[in-house]
Amino acid sequence: MVRAVRWARRHHIPLVPRGAGTSLDGESVPPDGAVAIDLRAWNRVLEVHREGRWARVGPGLVNADLQAALRPHGLFFPPNPGSWLTSTIGGHVATNASGPRSFRYGSTRHWIRALDAVLGTGEIVHLGTRSEKRSMGPDLLQTFIGSEGTLGIVSEVTVRLAPRPPVRWGLALPLPARPRLGPLAVALAQLPDSGLSAVEYLDAYSARGLVLSRGAPWSADTGRLLVEVEAERPAEAEQRVRRLGRLVRRFGIASAGVVFPESDRLWDLRGEAGRVMDEVLGSRIRDDVAVPPGQLDALVTALQRIARREGVAVHCFAHLGEGNVHPNFVVDPASRRADRIRRAMYEAALRLGGTMSAEHGIGRVKRAYVERELGRPAARLLRAVKDACDPDGILNPGNLYPD
Ligand SMILES: Cc1cc2nc3c(=O)[nH]c(=O)nc-3n(C[C@H](O)[C@H](O)[C@H](O)COP(=O)(O)OP(=O)(O)OC[C@H]3O[C@@H](n4cnc5c(N)ncnc54)[C@H](O)[C@@H]3O)c2cc1C
Repeated sequence: MVRAVRWARRHHIPLVPRGAGTSLDGESVPPDGAVAIDLRAWNRVLEVHREGRWARVGPGLVNADLQAALRPHGLFFPPNPGSWLTSTIGGHVATNASGPRSFRYGSTRHWIRALDAVLGTGEIVHLGTRSEKRSMGPDLLQTFIGSEGTLGIVSEVTVRLAPRPPVRWGLALPLPARPRLGPLAVALAQLPDSGLSAVEYLDAYSARGLVLSRGAPWSADTGRLLVEVEAERPAEAEQRVRRLGRLVRRFGIASAGVVFPESDRLWDLRGEAGRVMDEVLGSRIRDDVAVPPGQLDALVTALQRIARREGVAVHCFAHLGEGNVHPNFVVDPASRRADRIRRAMYEAALRLGGTMSAEHGIGRVKRAYVERELGRPAARLLRAVKDACDPDGILNPGNLYPD
């Protein structure tokens, strides 16, 4: 890898590190003349340390393969993006990926202890530590997470692990026609001893799509609240589900919904929501904005207003507990109208105290808006980090940074 980077630097050839290629904003698409570095062969579990709850892995290891290797140890790696059956740990690090379980466990950045990477200079850096604590200036490991292959190529990752709860139930609850999403998300987050590890939302359109195209076992007539309850024993899970049922009744959810005794099946279905939209709606804006959960209804109202003004349809699913909405605007994503929609959507998210990019990163699609969110001085700092790690700009050019 070091030789490849040095060669590329000498010949001014751009390099694009690439895992499974599932990122959604053009992060791993090589521009003309660039060489893609396919990391999928670096896919070994190098070491699992059960007591220390960490594992060393190659960056090309697929999330699902890591989970399978950890099962006999009673451990798991919490980030579970909808793409978990194919996407890689290196890709998760480079995009700071999240998943339904981020509601309880946080995003990838909370689950990386250390990594090795080759900078754009050809130098190797070892970032992070296996120690539980370290106080040593700004955290360079965290600077690397979410850097979308623009600072260095990650060659090894030490992931943190969590004990796998013995019981994990998924529930798909029917929502009323006009759910109060913000208050619901806040109430669920505040429910004591809930064991809730995921709180997701499908609008009626997405929920019906999963029924018709993927055989989801719920009725096709309402939106759905999807949750996961973790527990030590089935009796504890039952008690938690009963308490949850009492709470959601206040929000017009009267039925117990559909129970998934093995919740991964629910997350596989949920992970198909985007692909179903691909099949049904084709090319469109598929976005990723977030606001504080209490502002969710204001965000959804703003998105609907934008769609009405532009004369297009919008369908949403969301990581509800984290205030992260994926709006799907049915519009040619390369059109001027799409530009207007994106700008208005990001302005609405920022006005409500949120972000234009909750988990999918920036890539090529959103880089023009980075300075608007960060402000000029912070955008300049970001650029300075890039210049220090990759002075010739050979790593993933055209990605993440504003021109
Ligand atoms: C159906 C579907 C569902 C999804 N659901 C979610 C979700 O729930 N949550 C979420 O956060 N995302 C989701 N995504 C987006 C995507 O899966 C994640 O961003 C994932 O982490 C990308 O992993 P990858 O292996 O495909 O990386 P790639 O797409 O190959 O690369 C992504 C970025 O990482 C860089 N990169 C890859 N490997 C390395 C490395 N070793 N060193 C340095 N840089 C590297 C690339 O250059 C690129 O910038 C979804 C995508 C799809 C298609």
